[in-house]
Amino acid sequence: MATFEPREQIQAMSGYHSPQVDVPVRLNTNESPFPPPAGWVEKLAFVASTLEWNRYPDRAAHELRTVIAKRHGVRPEMVFVANGSNEVLQTILLTYGGHGRCVATFEPTYQMYAQIARVTGAEVVVGERRADMTLDPHEIERVMQKHTPAVTFLCNPNNPTGLVEPRENLEILLQHATGIVVADEAYAEFSDWSAMDMVSEDRPLAVTRTFSKTLSMAALRVGYVVAPTWMVSQLEIAVLPYHLDAFKQAATIAALSFTAEMEERVSLIKSERSRIEATLASHNIEVWPSGANFVLFRPRSRPAADIWQSLLNAGVLVRDCSSWARLDGCLRVTVGTPAENTAFLDAIDAAV
Ligand code: PMP
Repeated sequence: MATFEPREQIQAMSGYHSPQVDVPVRLNTNESPFPPPAGWVEKLAFVASTLEWNRYPDRAAHELRTVIAKRHGVRPEMVFVANGSNEVLQTILLTYGGHGRCVATFEPTYQMYAQIARVTGAEVVVGERRADMTLDPHEIERVMQKHTPAVTFLCNPNNPTGLVEPRENLEILLQHATGIVVADEAYAEFSDWSAMDMVSEDRPLAVTRTFSKTLSMAALRVGYVVAPTWMVSQLEIAVLPYHLDAFKQAATIAALSFTAEMEERVSLIKSERSRIEATLASHNIEVWPSGANFVLFRPRSRPAADIWQSLLNAGVLVRDCSSWARLDGCLRVTVGTPAENTAFLDAIDAAV
C-alpha cells in the first residue's frame, strides 16, 4: 500500500527554524558582518574559467585537503571537507549514528546535533548544564557511563551560550568516551583555546571548523573536520560521491591565501563583543561571557519576545531563543560591524 507519510522520526520533528527577515541590521545567524576580501571575489571568475566543467570534480578533494592540512600542521588524510560544517556533522552521524545507537549532547547547545542524529534514526540523550550554563564534569561522567553514546558533541565555544568550555571537560569526556567525540569549533577563532592539538590516531576525537564565520564565506558552504585517518576513511564511505563541487574546491583553495587578512578582523569583533557585553550589563541585563562572535543575554525588565519585537521595529533582527528549552527569556545577538552594534545597543536602550 502506498504511503505519503514521512518516516516516524521525521513526523516527530519540526525542523530547524531561523527566520530570514529583510531588515537593515541582521544580527541573528552569527555570520561575519564583513564581506570576504575583494581580491578573492575578483579571482573567482578566473577560478571558474580554469575548471573542466564537463568532468566530475576530484572526489577526494586532494589539493584542498592538503592546503587545509598545512594550515593545521596535520596530514591531508586527517582532513575531510564538506558543504558547510553541518554536512560534516551529518556525515559523522550517518557514519556513527543511526538506528539502535545513541548520541549525546549537553543542552542547551547547537540544535542541529540532535536534529541530524534523529534524522539518522539515532536516539538522543541529553546531559544538562548548570543554571549558569556551565558544564559539570560529573554530568559528563554520568552521561557517558549511563548511555555509552556512539557519538558525543561538545560545542566549544558553545552556541547559543557563547561560553568557552574548560579544556578539562574535553579531557574528561575523552577519558570516558565509548565512541566518537566531536569538538565543534565553528567559533574557535574568537576563543582562547582549541582542541586541534589534541587530535591524534589513538583518540576518537574529531574537531570541526567552518568557513562561514571568521572566513566570511557563509554563502560558499564549506566546513571541514580534522580527525584520525581511520575516522576520515570511514566518513568517506558514508558521504555521497563527488559531494564537493569543483568550483567550491577551487574557490576555497583560493580563499585560503587570504586567511591572514580575514583573521585580522577577529580582534575588531572581539573588542566589539566586549562593548556589547559591557553595555548590556550596564542596562541591568543578564549577560553570559562570550568566547564567540555572539552574545547571549536575558533582559529583566520586559519579556524577551517583546524586546525582540521592539528591536525588529527598530530594524534590528536578533535571535529569539526565549521559547527554546532551558533558555527562558534569552535573546542572542551576533556581533556586527561597529555601526550595526551601535544600532543594536541604541535599540536596546530604547526597548528595556
Ligand atoms: N556548528 C555550530 C556550533 C554552528 O553555530 C553552526 C552555524 N550556525 C554550524 C556548526 C554550521 O555551520 P556551517 O554549516 O555554516 O559551516
